[in-house]
Amino acid sequence: MNMDFTRKLPIPAETKEMYPLDEKMKETVKTQTESLMDIFSGKSDRLALIVGPCSADNEESVIDYISRLVPVQEKVREKIQIVPRIYTNKPRTTGDGYKGLVHQPDPEAKPDLFRGIIATRELHMRAVRETGFACADEMLYPENYKYLDDLLGYVAVGARSVEDQQHRLTASAIGCPVGMKNPTSGDLSVMMNGILAAQHEHDFIYRGWEGHSHGNPYAHAILRGYVNRQGVTHPNYHYETLLYLADLYRQWDLVHPAVVIDCNHANSGKNPFEQPRILKEVLLSCRNNAQIRNLVKGFMVESYIEDGNQPVGGGVYGKSITDACLGWERTERMIYEVAELL
Ligand code: PEP
Ligand code: MN
Repeated sequence: MNMDFTRKLPIPAETKEMYPLDEKMKETVKTQTESLMDIFSGKSDRLALIVGPCSADNEESVIDYISRLVPVQEKVREKIQIVPRIYTNKPRTTGDGYKGLVHQPDPEAKPDLFRGIIATRELHMRAVRETGFACADEMLYPENYKYLDDLLGYVAVGARSVEDQQHRLTASAIGCPVGMKNPTSGDLSVMMNGILAAQHEHDFIYRGWEGHSHGNPYAHAILRGYVNRQGVTHPNYHYETLLYLADLYRQWDLVHPAVVIDCNHANSGKNPFEQPRILKEVLLSCRNNAQIRNLVKGFMVESYIEDGNQPVGGGVYGKSITDACLGWERTERMIYEVAELL
């Protein structure tokens, strides 16, 4: 191979031995995950709100951000389950640029994957221990999922990964709700095939093992908008698309029909300030149609302490270095407004 093998990394079991969860943390992850499963199975009619920065670039500001969600969660508990985003891997359209905490625990320094793996586990552990949230991450590299499988309450398979076999097979082995995004092209059949694969059992190779997965009945759709053949961004959160998705679910052999609306990315045209409006528009669609209300189980919002984004090294605390985010004040207001509408 045309590659230098720089150093051998600890396997997930070794990392978990070095950084174990105590009983209280295990209980936190279990109860949070189970109540999220109740949302995705329709047992509970609360909504899931997966909210947080596009990328978890800095431990201090991410924990600061998630700590602000704690009192908000208390107030809206009856109606909304908050799942903070701690996204430690970033897919890059060209492969260049900041690839997330796993690659660069210090975004301004050279990649350090050894430290990145530890930093990622420590950050998710701090969130569970200090805030009582089990968080969400994107599974960009299926083989890395096992470093975090005892910590996550929600997993997303991204728009650039959803057509990939190893992602789908690994999703079928995950024990918490997994959202399969529509691909960047917007082809919903690719997403539906991904959900089908994730809900079924499979035999496959994972981290040097031959294994058998049991299927994930909580695998579901995430609509994130798309880019057409001319490169123009189009939303896919509107009433008609949601009805069409409800129809697709009826045609496919799937359990627990469910969708999460990603309010940013191609749905907002990457304008983060559109997110509260998009969320409220979807709630209106829910109010107008029972099929849509039954299908929509949650929302994803990109939010951080400060509005907008900045280049790597920009130096503003709590401001995104990847996609532009909704700042804290607007986010807090949005969550209370949504709770009022429910
Ligand atoms: C994200 O959630 O930040 C992300 C990269 O999403 P997508 O896969 O939809 O582009
Ligand atoms: Mn993003």
